[in-house]
Amino acid sequence: MPYAEGKVKRSDMNLRPHIPRLRSKLLAWYDSSGRTLPWRIRPEDRDAGEQANPYAVWLSEIMLQQTTVPHATPYWEAFLTKWPTVRELADAAQDDVLAAWAGLGYYARARNLHKCAQLIRDQYSGEFPQTEQALLKLPGIGPYTAATMAAICFNEATNIVDGNVERVIARLHAEDAPLPKSKKLLAGLAAPIADPDRPGDYGQALMDLGATICTPRGPDCPNCVWSFACQAFKDGNPEDYPVKIKKNRPIRYGAVFALMHDGRVLLRKRPDDGLLGGMLELPGTDWGDAYPETPLMFAPMKRNWEKCDAPVKHVFTHFELWLEVFRAEGDGGAGLWVPFDDMTDYPIPSLTKKAILQALKN
Ligand code: SF4
Repeated sequence: MPYAEGKVKRSDMNLRPHIPRLRSKLLAWYDSSGRTLPWRIRPEDRDAGEQANPYAVWLSEIMLQQTTVPHATPYWEAFLTKWPTVRELADAAQDDVLAAWAGLGYYARARNLHKCAQLIRDQYSGEFPQTEQALLKLPGIGPYTAATMAAICFNEATNIVDGNVERVIARLHAEDAPLPKSKKLLAGLAAPIADPDRPGDYGQALMDLGATICTPRGPDCPNCVWSFACQAFKDGNPEDYPVKIKKNRPIRYGAVFALMHDGRVLLRKRPDDGLLGGMLELPGTDWGDAYPETPLMFAPMKRNWEKCDAPVKHVFTHFELWLEVFRAEGDGGAGLWVPFDDMTDYPIPSLTKKAILQALKN
């Protein structure tokens, strides 16, 4: 991302003389103490002749959006075992990709992943394009992923900014403009510090600093290589940054119906577009501002429905969902009967699994 000259903050001007030292100290710290991750080519790996695999890096970056390294790693390994190349992923059935993704959430991401793989197979001869601008045109690849892939895989001098980087940069400058509005401002403050000679290592180093030293709570400032220039450290209040506008998540309510028979549960497929698109769910009501007053009117068929003791609660990015769960024994009904023991073979999101578990408990 080009750095917008013109309106330059005073803190930015104060920091500029420190830029060479900020870069060299961070890279030296990364060389000795940066994280080893399964998809990462560390400097010593590169010295031994290894190169970043764009497919593996891309998978990791898409999976790591909104989840942690320990949670994403087994999924990343499973994808690479099942589909070792982008062509093999492109040739897979979408339902198989969604099933392998189940548990990572944000299923639009899995559909875009598959779409992107097919585009790379069909329009790019199975090779990822090699510039930030070209990567940005692919489905599911946003500014952060494009900048990261271009820097790590193709050595392009980009400005990699994720949540970790925003936090470090906000503290370094004691920048109090609140997120999310200050995203552009923080990216602008990050850009002149980015190292053009080792862009991939620099970006990964800064993300590591945010993940392991400059953590949201209890940053380890005495052991931070940037403390010499950090304004929030000097002021003694790093945890005050970044400033965030607090939003209350609205709650939406609904009811679902678990019809069970012979070790199986009846599910239906959600429409391909939208939230949890293409995934399997229990039949249920729409989601509204209150629980439905007469939920049994919406039951998929007449049965002796029993209400479970407690609702299932699930947090999405923009709202929380509370679902009453009704259960009944019996067969029949339209949909897909899925055996409890084989649920991992089907594209079943965590929300549906939670509701099934609730029905089984009662
Ligand atoms: S000195 Fe502290 S607040 Fe500043 S960048 Fe380092 S860890 Fe973060």
